[in-house]
Amino acid sequence: MGIGRNEDLHVNADYTVDVLVVGAGAAGLTAAVVAGIHRQSVLIVEKDAVFGGSTAYSGGWLWVPLSPAARRAKVSDSTDDARDYIRERAGEYFRPQLVDAFLATGPVMVDFLEREAGLNFEVGTSFPDYYSDVAGASQGGRSIVASPFNARRLGMELSRLRPPLRELTVAGVMVGTGRAVYHFYNARRSIRSATFVVRSLIRSSLENALFGRSVQLTNGNALVGALAEAAFRHNAVLWTQTRVEALIIKGGSVRGAVVWHQGRRHQVIASRGVLLATGGFSHSRELREALFGSQYPQEPVSPIASSVTGDGMELARQSGAAICREMSNPAAWVPVSIVPRDHGESGVFPHFVDRAKPGIIAVSDDGARFTNEADSYHQFVQAMLLRGGPANAHAWLVGDHTAIRRYGLGAARPSPFLLTRFVKSGYLRVAPSVRDLARAIGVNEDGLAATVDEFGQWARRGADPLFRRGESAYNRYQGDPTVGPNPCLAPLSKPPFYAVELFPGDLGTFLGICTDADARVLSESGQTLSGLYAAGNDMASIFGGDYPGAGITLGPAMTFAYRAIMHMLQRRPPHSPHGLADADSDL
Ligand SMILES: Cc1cc2nc3c(=O)[nH]c(=O)nc-3n(C[C@H](O)[C@H](O)[C@H](O)COP(=O)(O)OP(=O)(O)OC[C@H]3O[C@@H](n4cnc5c(N)ncnc54)[C@H](O)[C@@H]3O)c2cc1C
Repeated sequence: MGIGRNEDLHVNADYTVDVLVVGAGAAGLTAAVVAGIHRQSVLIVEKDAVFGGSTAYSGGWLWVPLSPAARRAKVSDSTDDARDYIRERAGEYFRPQLVDAFLATGPVMVDFLEREAGLNFEVGTSFPDYYSDVAGASQGGRSIVASPFNARRLGMELSRLRPPLRELTVAGVMVGTGRAVYHFYNARRSIRSATFVVRSLIRSSLENALFGRSVQLTNGNALVGALAEAAFRHNAVLWTQTRVEALIIKGGSVRGAVVWHQGRRHQVIASRGVLLATGGFSHSRELREALFGSQYPQEPVSPIASSVTGDGMELARQSGAAICREMSNPAAWVPVSIVPRDHGESGVFPHFVDRAKPGIIAVSDDGARFTNEADSYHQFVQAMLLRGGPANAHAWLVGDHTAIRRYGLGAARPSPFLLTRFVKSGYLRVAPSVRDLARAIGVNEDGLAATVDEFGQWARRGADPLFRRGESAYNRYQGDPTVGPNPCLAPLSKPPFYAVELFPGDLGTFLGICTDADARVLSESGQTLSGLYAAGNDMASIFGGDYPGAGITLGPAMTFAYRAIMHMLQRRPPHSPHGLADADSDL
């Protein structure tokens, strides 16, 4: 039986719960925590053998303006500024009711998780919004991240927690984004960073020997670990390797779902409601073809968890839900490289940081730069797509020896980690001169030589007249503060020279199920489908295809999961401490 609806089924429940949550990522686990704390019986069904979804792979950043962590750090901000910024960026796709609900409830949701569930968040006070020059943008303080979490608190459940993405770890330590990546970059230049790295590696080796994995979790793994621990503490039940096959609909209301669990089909009745939180449709080629439009890549190349295949969208669509397609971009983009693993397998490395570092540039086949490499990953891929079209969009990230030993390039780590494995596998291309490198990677030789020469002349003066790299606060944040006069610029002068091939990948889908401000699923005619809710990447992004800052999927995912449960319980979410009236709840 495929995914579908089950209208005529004779409902003979095997199980009855208050809340049924489909998918155990940030959205699903947040809903389980909130419902559990409100003494509701909760069943989470998760298709994979592990819980955590793509959230467990993620940087774990949440974009929540005016969060409690920002207040503690005395960050200066206002809801009006945040709203202006979102409106400015979303343009014609601005959706005021959803945005206002998000701004009002985001801080309340974080406060609830900290006070009632025992989670802790830290604020990135110097982490600017991605369009830091736009009116209303913050120069730091809207992105927060879960504090490190000791996974031993999960007890036996640790074995079911999805490990971090292999390409973003060193000896089990997550170094893709955040504090760890800063220290790994600086290990050869700062005693504090060297101590951090050595300590992390020793601790991780010991933990690997004792527990089979690193247990001092950071980033998205810490967020998932902390949410799951709170959910279990409040009696939520998690069935892994359990797939929802159909929704049970009676008299126009969603009453529960048919799930495949332990070799048998069960009917689960949910008296309060069903929340779809299956993470969007990054790995569904069929849905990408149907919904993306021909100017975007249809072939999934994504570091998103492979179990994210659009099941929530299918369930909702077959129940009469509308899909929101009016957006500037159908997905969150990130440039990726393909990293060979053992036994002919490969992994996908997301390039968040290296593009902005001094001595590294991106070029297309003509050897010319085509964009500001230090802009956000979402902008960078849009520039790749403009340059090459969806079928031929690729680029080369090129760096000299100084840069690659200092910052690494993609999955190849900075000194003292060796490059040999990456050179041998062909992931890293290396050559003694810029012209030799151009020939090796099939890029126009004169073009690349001229680009490197011209870039170097301007870099020495700290300027990039072509793309103004290093001028915005966000660019500078991604650069290297020890390099001057521009932290994003240095000539590529020291041989050998290296290159890694980039492809347009995605970090999750933006198109999704249309909902109201309480995450209730809407039909084509705009009516709510009683009993059915959607959050996380199953719910259409509230930013209209834009990617305004770090954490713009997890912040709303958890906020609307919170609102969904409050609606199921017929409770109005408490007012934001900033006095923004709750936008659009009909309670
Ligand atoms: C490397 C990386 C870094 C990122 N960093 C950030 C960041 O710092 N901040 C940010 O906001 N975003 C980040 N993202 C994006 C973010 O991870 C996702 O947007 C987010 O995790 C989506 O959360 P979710 O709860 O919707 O889905 P997920 O966390 O993906 O969870 C969905 C779950 O549903 C399960 N499922 C699927 N189908 C079924 C079914 N039929 N029945 C039962 N279960 C099912 C899946 O197996 C999965 O476990 C990053 C992504 C990656 C890959």
